[in-house]
Amino acid sequence: MDKNLSQLLARACDAIRNEIGTGQVASYIPALARVDPKKLGAAIVTVDGQVARYGDADEPFSMQSISKVFTLTLALEQIGEKLWERVGREPSGNSFNSIVQLEREHGIPRNPLINAGALVVCDVLLCQRSPDQAIAAILEFVRSTSDDASVSTDPEVAQSEAETGFRNASLANFMKSFGNLTHDVDDVLHVYFHQCAIAVSCAQLARAGLFLATNGSDPQTHRPFISAQRARRINSIMLMCGHYDASGEFAFRVGTPGKSGVGGGILAIVPDRAAIAVWSPALTSAGNSHAGTAALEQIVREAGWSIF
Ligand code: GLU
Repeated sequence: MDKNLSQLLARACDAIRNEIGTGQVASYIPALARVDPKKLGAAIVTVDGQVARYGDADEPFSMQSISKVFTLTLALEQIGEKLWERVGREPSGNSFNSIVQLEREHGIPRNPLINAGALVVCDVLLCQRSPDQAIAAILEFVRSTSDDASVSTDPEVAQSEAETGFRNASLANFMKSFGNLTHDVDDVLHVYFHQCAIAVSCAQLARAGLFLATNGSDPQTHRPFISAQRARRINSIMLMCGHYDASGEFAFRVGTPGKSGVGGGILAIVPDRAAIAVWSPALTSAGNSHAGTAALEQIVREAGWSIF
């Protein structure tokens, strides 16, 4: 562990401790409502192999929508540019589970990082795979990018989402009616709920995101996950769309590509330098971690890592 990096991380997180607990945990998924809102974890993994951890950095939390970055990567590897015939790549300006835009835009979701777009991505991953095989492929990808075979799905969270995922079911049925889902709606939802229920710690998540900071190849295992151009493009989608209708605010305050999840985690990518993961479960009204965003803002400012 690098001492300077650890000191920087500790200084940045200590500075925002009074933000911890502001906001609400995601109560619409009952299994998430039980999480302690006072947690704060953070981890940085740099391209040259330094690692720094803070607070609850090793405690697993629900990845939720951060998983959309990994499924998007898999779907692009699977069908390439054809994905863009079924999902856009523009910021939505709407909440993560909005149905309004879908009607006006004929069942084509604005981008792959909102729920509707992620459901289309699941549909792609179901091509020539059973739902269980699709879930296994997603898990396998997160395990290989994090270089940690212990990463798993939390079955209780997946079950809880399935029991209460009426809005996601509506989005999926709506897109099916426009012909933008080719598989059974229940199968698509099953895969989606399981990808969201993957549990990771900040340390695992930062490591899993590192390939996006290093032109698509893992700097330590040298595994070439994706091309440099694809990594750049995924980063640009994260920057524009990674925080729903608060993506502009995140770019303004933090200034890096990032993806949040309603579990309270955020993955931020600093191209050519590092991947950062933060976790604090209390969310803003837009569904993004309040203290996590504050921590990232402080870390990126102290390190001088804004891309702007
Ligand atoms: N599983 C959540 C949902 O579909 C993910 C939302 C999020 O993390 O933003 O509602």
